[in-house]
Amino acid sequence: MARNLGPVCRLCRREGLKLFLKGERCYSDKCAIERRNYPPGAHGQARTRFSEFAIRLREKQKVKRIYGMMERQFSEYFAKAERMDGITGENLLVLLERRLDNVVYRLNLASSRSQARQLVTHRHFRVNGRIVNVPSYVVKVGDVIEIGERSKKSPVFQSNFEAAKSRHAPEWLEWSDESATAKVTSLPSREQIDTPVDEQLIVEYYSR
Ligand code: SF4
Repeated sequence: MARNLGPVCRLCRREGLKLFLKGERCYSDKCAIERRNYPPGAHGQARTRFSEFAIRLREKQKVKRIYGMMERQFSEYFAKAERMDGITGENLLVLLERRLDNVVYRLNLASSRSQARQLVTHRHFRVNGRIVNVPSYVVKVGDVIEIGERSKKSPVFQSNFEAAKSRHAPEWLEWSDESATAKVTSLPSREQIDTPVDEQLIVEYYSR
């Protein structure tokens, strides 16, 4: 699946907030948002008035970039959310949260979603005892996610464990330090998803 390989700090500056795309750098004063909190480009510091369309477009772009997706894949998620029972915007966020790369990130086993994606594709994780190397795998209630035995000793995981001590996994994931496994105890509710987004604007964007 294609992914954005360009400079990512520009994306945060375009959206005007931290999207946490670069791991530890995002928590340091080297973060581009801390230094230049205005949109990139020659007219970045000019005053801009957003149209109704632009407001909805920016909200969609923001979520798409947070979860590291391209347009086509994101619109497929939206179409799936629309077919589900319940509120489309919430369904969309819940589906995105349930992606395996996001779960790894939420468990603080990776410093960013892009690192989580790489760790998944490099076969570091098992779900219910079987290796899963598909970042878009959608976890279900009862799934058990574990780190491979050899992977646990790798420097990447050791440093991520250290960095993760000050952050907490969401309530819908139950992490065990002893076994280095996580269980999906429930599906995330909207209140448990801290992504700063007004999902209704995305629904309106696709309904235009
Ligand atoms: Fe965004 Fe992280 Fe770059 Fe800051 S360091 S601008 S949060 S990607």
